[in-house]
Amino acid sequence: PDIASLVPYVPGKPIEELQRELGLPRAVKLASNENPIGPSPKALAVLAETAPTLHRYPDGGAFRLRGALAERWKVSPDHVILGNGSDELLGLLARTFLSPGDEAVMAEHTFVIYKMEVKAAHGVAVEVPQKAWHHDLPAMAAAITDKTRLLFVCNPNNPTGTMATKAEVAALMARVPDHVVVVFDEAYYEYVRHPEFPDSIGYVKAGRNAIVLRTFSKIYGLAGLRIGYGITTPEITNYLNRIRPPFNANSMAQRAALAALDDEAHVAASRSLNHAEMDKVRAGLQRLGFEALPSETNFLYFDVGRDGRAVFDALLRKGIIVRHIDGRMLRVTIGLPEENQLFLRALQDVLGASR
Ligand code: PMP
Repeated sequence: PDIASLVPYVPGKPIEELQRELGLPRAVKLASNENPIGPSPKALAVLAETAPTLHRYPDGGAFRLRGALAERWKVSPDHVILGNGSDELLGLLARTFLSPGDEAVMAEHTFVIYKMEVKAAHGVAVEVPQKAWHHDLPAMAAAITDKTRLLFVCNPNNPTGTMATKAEVAALMARVPDHVVVVFDEAYYEYVRHPEFPDSIGYVKAGRNAIVLRTFSKIYGLAGLRIGYGITTPEITNYLNRIRPPFNANSMAQRAALAALDDEAHVAASRSLNHAEMDKVRAGLQRLGFEALPSETNFLYFDVGRDGRAVFDALLRKGIIVRHIDGRMLRVTIGLPEENQLFLRALQDVLGASR
């Protein structure tokens, strides 16, 4: 029954297929919060080197990548676990910590995978309403019961783009009992500009039951290789490793991630393009009469003031792919300058036609 209650993830059509169907010369995908610049050139270079070894299984212990991540975050390698995308780690967390009927606390309007994985593990997803599109951390702390085992803080949050501050997280952590593992999902960490972003790894270092999830899919531009990681206590790593498929991080992904981690210039360029373009897209939306929510990510979330699905469909017919999650809200990823211009122009056309 838990599986029957789930709805399969609906993937978008391949972009070439969509272009052919619509008879358009080009389509622009601003739907999955990917890096519009692409992968680091250093990562691309090592893929060719790795290819001749593909008859071998990957290093199941990911010795080099875990070592590099441990060094980056100033922990020992037994604090680091890799996943086939951070998505896989969310699944491992649910299966490791939830027995049937156990509860997982999460915000409403957060990353959809939490609920899916919790239900798939026969747990109960306790969704706490947000306050002005921000996680209501005091209400989430109040939702903890004896049956709670996981609490998800998506920071910054997808799809809203909003952030919980250092002080808010500190107040939460003061109220979380030891029988709850706090999951800080920080997929967009590298894009954060706000000075009050919390030091979540600090809680792990202090021995709290917490895990910080990061990914190579966003600023590192390696979404297609599927690789993410968790920084957590050696005890939690040990439990997760009991059910982790031994070769979940493939050899191409391990090598490319190692190279991408080292390519600080690519990260810096991706970050500054994102910030410059985000400010322009925000201003463009304002000219059309829309106020996007504050965002610490590489996407904007905004109220179109009418049925979001209809606006999504009309944009799609023009070859502009954004994301509609529910109601009047749309999420748009910040793309290359030209892609963002095409998006704003298409949105203006769509709105003109519906007035
Ligand atoms: N967490 C959040 C908040 C995300 O937005 C995403 C990607 N959309 C993920 C986790 C999963 O990322 P990946 O599996 O590609 O590492």
